[in-house]
Amino acid sequence: MTESHAFDVAVIGAGPAGSTVAALLARAGLRVAIVERERMPRFHVGESLMPETYWVFKRLGVLETLKASNFPRKYSVQFVNDRGKESVPFYFFEMNPHESAITWQVWRADFDRMLLDRALADGARLFAPFNVIDLLSDGDQVHGLVARSNDDGDETRLELRARIVVDASGLSSFLARRFAVRREDPLLRKAAVWTYYRGAHRDPGIDEGATIILHTREKKAWFWYIPLPDDVVSVGVVSDVDYLLRNRGTPGEIFAEEVANCAAVERRLRVGRPTGQFYVAREFSYTTDRPAGPGWMLVGDALGFVDPIYSSGVFLALKSGELAADAILDAFRAQDFRPERLAAWVPGYRRGVAAIRRLVLAFYTREFSFGRFIRAYPQHRKRLVDLLIGNVFQDDVHRIFDDMSRFVDLPE
Ligand SMILES: Cc1cc2nc3c(=O)[nH]c(=O)nc-3n(C[C@H](O)[C@H](O)[C@H](O)COP(=O)(O)OP(=O)(O)OC[C@H]3O[C@@H](n4cnc5c(N)ncnc54)[C@H](O)[C@@H]3O)c2cc1C
Repeated sequence: MTESHAFDVAVIGAGPAGSTVAALLARAGLRVAIVERERMPRFHVGESLMPETYWVFKRLGVLETLKASNFPRKYSVQFVNDRGKESVPFYFFEMNPHESAITWQVWRADFDRMLLDRALADGARLFAPFNVIDLLSDGDQVHGLVARSNDDGDETRLELRARIVVDASGLSSFLARRFAVRREDPLLRKAAVWTYYRGAHRDPGIDEGATIILHTREKKAWFWYIPLPDDVVSVGVVSDVDYLLRNRGTPGEIFAEEVANCAAVERRLRVGRPTGQFYVAREFSYTTDRPAGPGWMLVGDALGFVDPIYSSGVFLALKSGELAADAILDAFRAQDFRPERLAAWVPGYRRGVAAIRRLVLAFYTREFSFGRFIRAYPQHRKRLVDLLIGNVFQDDVHRIFDDMSRFVDLPE
């Protein structure tokens, strides 16, 4: 059976990027469909937020829901070096004494469902579980999508006509693969293995919800340590894909070997109980050559993904969703849907993302130390915190790289 519908905008994916675009467009009066292949809520990695998410939450109207949630408050990020030396936590409010400096560690199933509910309350319509499998197009011009039900035994095929298809399909990057505009980042060929512990160590007071980033011996890999609700901790190890996954054992064995290479993680996990399930992700860093075309545009991870280290993914998904929604509203007002107009926000956005990427490259440079850099150039501390909170869409933040480039080669 084929169902056909017409919308102004069809969004692929109900993650943070898709729900943000959909909410902002639907509340402005456009007819918006979201097509999601999973049944929501669904599991997703990426639990630690960046403080600058605050402003998008405020605009979406979800701050009160977040404040009333049981998600741990995140005041800081702390680094532990390869010799086990723990940095003083970088408290975001020190440089930015405002409630936006405090953010959350979230279960993505609940968080993404909350954002989707916001979009549905604003008037978007959800089709789930429907897997987008094709486009409706006429030459280069896209004017809709085709999806198939993901429910066993359900043969429903969906045809949605739309003026614009927004791809918010995350790392699966449906449109970017279709149009062959996805380009892997040759400097960031990373992989991750992660799991969840119950009852593992938490620091007291406001440090309880801190993200901790811990290097393993000889800086061969690093761990994230993210406290979640119900006494659960998300803990994952990231390194070069060849080192982490080639000729190694099962994900559980790799994880255990890397824990043995990191006394500071081992000490924290020793008092907890593993949940036993392991997850793997690989080669997730990439960019895209074209952010938009006739009748389509990309947002969130579908537009590009840098690296998990600074927890920037959800923030960039929200931010690009917001910027894309404004561009789409502008296009509808002007009845001008040229790709240059739809993507007018992308160069400024990408400049901010490039700053995060340069800080990522610094982190992965063996001889570089943020502690030593800040001791040598204390005037950059505010800029470093700006990068860590996501305040990257302003020119001043880039000045940190004038001096950082003296220590480390940081390609644009
Ligand atoms: C190992 C790792 C750790 C990370 N840790 C963090 C972190 O701590 N903090 C952080 O902020 N970010 C983190 N991230 C990044 C974060 O997970 C993403 O940046 C974020 O989820 C992007 O949101 P999105 O809406 O673009 O895509 P997603 O959240 O991935 O949503 C995309 C949605 O599209 C759906 N979809 C895909 N294809 C189709 C299709 N064909 N048809 C229909 N639906 C489809 C998917 O089911 C999914 O629900 C991490 C990433 C990795 C790889």
